[in-house]
Amino acid sequence: MAPTQNTICSKHVAVIGAGAAGLVTARELRREGHTVVVFDREKQVGGLWNYSSKADSDPLSLDTTRNIVHTSIYESLRTNLPRECMGFTDFPFVPRIHDISRDSRRYPSHREVLAYLQDFAREFKIEEMVRFETEVVCVEPVNGKWSVRSKNSVGFAAHEIFDAVVVCSGHFTEPNVAHIPGIKSWPGKQIHSHNYRVPGPFNNEVVVVIGNYASGADISRDIAKVAKEVHIASRASESDTYQKLPVPQNNLWVHSEIDFAHQDGSILFKNGKVVYADTIVHCTGYKYYFPFLETNGYININENRVEPLYKHVFLPALAPSLSFIGLPGMAIQFVMFEIQSKWVAAVLSGRVILPSQDKMMEDIIEWYATLDVLGIPKRHTHKLGKISCEYLNWIAEECHCSPVENWRIQEVERGFQRMVSHPEIYRDEWDDDDLMEEAYKDFARKKL
Ligand code: FAD
Repeated sequence: MAPTQNTICSKHVAVIGAGAAGLVTARELRREGHTVVVFDREKQVGGLWNYSSKADSDPLSLDTTRNIVHTSIYESLRTNLPRECMGFTDFPFVPRIHDISRDSRRYPSHREVLAYLQDFAREFKIEEMVRFETEVVCVEPVNGKWSVRSKNSVGFAAHEIFDAVVVCSGHFTEPNVAHIPGIKSWPGKQIHSHNYRVPGPFNNEVVVVIGNYASGADISRDIAKVAKEVHIASRASESDTYQKLPVPQNNLWVHSEIDFAHQDGSILFKNGKVVYADTIVHCTGYKYYFPFLETNGYININENRVEPLYKHVFLPALAPSLSFIGLPGMAIQFVMFEIQSKWVAAVLSGRVILPSQDKMMEDIIEWYATLDVLGIPKRHTHKLGKISCEYLNWIAEECHCSPVENWRIQEVERGFQRMVSHPEIYRDEWDDDDLMEEAYKDFARKKL
């Protein structure tokens, strides 16, 4: 929709979260002329990249009264994307080679990502908008505005009214735990990857890791450094899968999924193999969870589908004043946050107009029907994968910003292929120097 000067207006906006999504959202909102308050319960920016050796008080995170630690980062974590394609489009994530405290590797450690986000916050003076150590406890619509209740670390409670709320609270803190037949009487220990930090506690153990995607592939290899044996249970593998994986310790296998956990401590896999395990590590992903949201039933989480959301961002009945940044997975995360937040900022100012509520609902219903036809389960509604670039470029066009760079798309695709085929070395050996060169030429051309 064409922008018209006389429709542009400034809103007072609450942003929940000062992770990568909240930081870029605050910047885009302010660039568009809105006033912004960012709330974060942590002491500093960076969200989940703030590594902590502490974890939830319940290793499976099932106890609702547990002490919750936000981060899911483990000590050895390095990025799963090359740094060039992780950065925001006008603030590239390039090595700071003159600073020896920084990690200049192409796939750097989590500390370097945190340092990058701190640099970003400093460069764009975002911290001045953030209220640290302040948790949002309730957000609800009141007479066309939004009531936001928060409390800070000394228990001071505040109640404020905003024109709009943008939820950037992340979705890697509420674990999804695998259902295992027989598990109630299985005597071993269990932990979710959210609470995994270092391999030490698994010394000399037999460990079963459920899940073989990014975290499962990493954590199983991390634990294999000290464990007696590590067995990966992979739902994506054929039922007869039984394969030894190449690690120096010679102690890592991948199986099909678990069939049954027995009272005598044994685990039976669907391939017929049995192991006596000390610990099960669930690398089985996370659930969307917004405990602070009171929308009187307008929004539901149904089998991990947050519904109904127009393009994963706007709730039609309450659009545009309530929006979500960063829900989709299997997309280029930081760039997605940037493009989605440009859209939200432009819609809030009236520079870009959303379709009517009915039209947005029609679009959502059509999208759900497409997923049904393709046999994609509800729980994967927000996993974009192959369509992620089409999705981002659609939003970019809506809000008149540049599409995702071709080199970035290709780097992600090739990086993903390497991750799947060579999980043990993909961060240190690659075959896409041409794309890397193109990325750096692009940064130079744009004088970034
Ligand atoms: P978060 O970083 O989780 O930030 C959310 C913020 O909201 C937090 O600071 C939290 O304190 C705050 N918050 C939440 N609730 C409240 C409340 N009620 N009141 C106040 N504050 C609140 N992506 C990549 O691009 N590359 C990678 O290599 C990569 N590796 C990953 C590894 C792991 C183990 C995980 C779990 C994810 C990884 N990701 C990676 C994806 C990751 O989602 C994004 O990189 C991104 O950092 C998420 O940012 P976010 O701002 O959405 O959420």
